[in-house]
Amino acid sequence: MAETTYTFRCTVCGWEVTIDKPELPEDFTCEACGVGPDLFELVEE
Ligand SMILES: [Zn+2]
Repeated sequence: MAETTYTFRCTVCGWEVTIDKPELPEDFTCEACGVGPDLFELVEE
């Protein structure tokens, strides 16, 4: 069974994170510029 992962990209600085859930946690922040999950977009692969 393949593991499903989701990649999100910060629309402000371009930093990317991959997690195993389709949504980022509400308290997630970009490690590069510090913005919240509202400014991330899901990267279609
Ligand atoms: Zn950022």
